[in-house]
Amino acid sequence: MIEHVGEAIVLRTWPFHEADLVVSLFTREQGRVKGVARHALKSRRRFGGALEPMTHVRASYAERRGQELVRLDALEILSSPLSRPVDYERTAALEMVAEVLEAALPEGAVEDAVFRLALAVLDELQVGRVWMPVTYFALWMNRLMGWMPELGRCAACGLDLRGGTVWYSAVNDGVTCADDRSAGGTALSAESVATAARIFRGTVKGLAEEDWPKARAAELRRFAIEVLERHLEGRLMTARVLARG
Ligand SMILES: [Zn+2]
Repeated sequence: MIEHVGEAIVLRTWPFHEADLVVSLFTREQGRVKGVARHALKSRRRFGGALEPMTHVRASYAERRGQELVRLDALEILSSPLSRPVDYERTAALEMVAEVLEAALPEGAVEDAVFRLALAVLDELQVGRVWMPVTYFALWMNRLMGWMPELGRCAACGLDLRGGTVWYSAVNDGVTCADDRSAGGTALSAESVATAARIFRGTVKGLAEEDWPKARAAELRRFAIEVLERHLEGRLMTARVLARG
């Protein structure tokens, strides 16, 4: 048996056997790990509020030889989304970040840059900001996973698209000029492309201090979420919930 203690983010839980929960954890040192929280349903005291999705914890767990699931021994809360009043938008944003991490990260792959991104975005969601952190997360997640299309050049003809509108679609990689756009393609304005460049240069904390109502960068957010969905090969249910909000 190998014991581990380290930082982690709780992604989701589901019931297992009678009184146990399986917990999907994004650990800093080992990537995504699944473990059993024994008696978690009966004894709330042991894990308390630490099992809420997107809780930042110090996790103690044991890897057992020949067992797929680790044994969770303790989760100490470092920061909890429940420490602030929860509203619809914030809850939906937290769930979206959790859903994307759960779907994008293979089990056991160490992703320290993604871990730092998640924590920085969580901090901003924690203080009640929603739209910039979510947009920042979706764009950066694409970049860190290697899914972010080059926005400065037409993928079909190589035309320099800098400073202009670009087109994208759910069926093709990359973006194109207007002439090469696919049927059903969507435009991404020059302003959105410029905002993406700012997001890749800046910190979420610095950017989130500006005023970001829901409508600001909405087009860019939709683009980033569609690129994520294209690579995750599925609709992000939580992104729809968030957009409805
Ligand atoms: Zn072209």
